[in-house]
Amino acid sequence: MNENRRFDTRAVHAGERHGRPDRTPDGGGDFYPISTPIYASTTFSHPDVQTTDRVLGGEEPGYSYARYDNPTVRAFESAVGALEGLRGEARAFAFGSGMAATHAALAAAELADGATALAAEQLYGSTATLLVQVFGANGVETRFFDAYDLGEVEKKVAESKPRAVMVETISNPLLRVADVAGLAEITRAFGAALIVDNTFGTPYLQRPLDLGADIVVHSATKYLSGHGDITAGVVVAKPPYDAAVESIRKLVGGVLGPFEAWLAHRGLKTLPLRMERQCKNAREIAARLSGHPRVSKVNHPSLEDHPDRKTAGRVLSDTGGLVSFELAVEPGRGREAAFGFLNALDLCVKAPSLGDVYTLAIHPATSSHRELSPSRRERLGVGENLIRLSVGIEHPDDVMDDLEQALDRF
Ligand SMILES: *Cc1c(COP(=O)(O)O)cnc(C)c1O
Repeated sequence: MNENRRFDTRAVHAGERHGRPDRTPDGGGDFYPISTPIYASTTFSHPDVQTTDRVLGGEEPGYSYARYDNPTVRAFESAVGALEGLRGEARAFAFGSGMAATHAALAAAELADGATALAAEQLYGSTATLLVQVFGANGVETRFFDAYDLGEVEKKVAESKPRAVMVETISNPLLRVADVAGLAEITRAFGAALIVDNTFGTPYLQRPLDLGADIVVHSATKYLSGHGDITAGVVVAKPPYDAAVESIRKLVGGVLGPFEAWLAHRGLKTLPLRMERQCKNAREIAARLSGHPRVSKVNHPSLEDHPDRKTAGRVLSDTGGLVSFELAVEPGRGREAAFGFLNALDLCVKAPSLGDVYTLAIHPATSSHRELSPSRRERLGVGENLIRLSVGIEHPDDVMDDLEQALDRF
């Protein structure tokens, strides 16, 4: 892919091999697919065993076995790499889920017996549990920190000497925005790997590797694929982490399948269009909810009172497609009101995911943050009256009409 091409152009063309032939057997001649086919082959043969030897030895590019590599998967990886690592020094690896990708990224940072990891307090619940339970069982200590106070981050990094620091571009569900450039300066000074989960951001809003991060992970289940029809993950890693990620994927085997890779690649082509629309819709919905008498608080980085409005202006190209808000109810009635509101929705889909073309609504206290104690939820600002919306690409007036009629009925 030509490095000078713009993001939107890359999203459409990256990873495709336009103009390069495939060949049908038995004299059918060459053909030129404009979209990479699904290569369902588990094994790849070569004209002679010497070539197989060189491919397996890494001396020659090629494919041998689908757990190692597959052309359809490689096409998707190449496209994500061209969007996340615009400067070309990073490599992307696709996994069967965002969690498999996160596990590989953390393991690639050499989190092993005796090592410490620093994790943002607002991290995706399964990531925090993965660190504490799985890496914890192998002798890794995880400490949590407030990622939005660089002074505290520097102090914590200096005293914990972590091997890896893990944050998210935009947090769930209060949509705090991390200063990735500032964090990278600190982790670089102390020799720690900075791992950024860019699921909420996507490379459309931010490219953490360009800001100094070492490894980016994605749940491609969300915005990258965008249609709510596959589970997938991606790690994009700079050297030396890229080789470690590749080796871990070969050995643990969490590679993405070619069918899902094909769908993910198909979805990725419209990422800029979807993001542009979702950000615009989210901004409009956040503004309109802010003026609603039955809403007491709205969280969106576009709003004047958002704590990271300035950071967002510096590190994000737009303010994102997620909005959360609190229903105006007296204390103790939060859950009842939230359930009433959600059940009254007619167009917005009640489903615990995000980044889809559909507008999705959830109750974080009983879904994404269900496993936390009520006191921890309170500390993180996840009240019973909080609703999170992942705004889709519908007409914003239709989404707003639905929200308004449900706001009348809780
Ligand atoms: C969904 C999600 C994950 C996990 O991804 P899966 O594809 O469900 O395994 C990790 N991080 C964030 C921020 C997510 O939203």
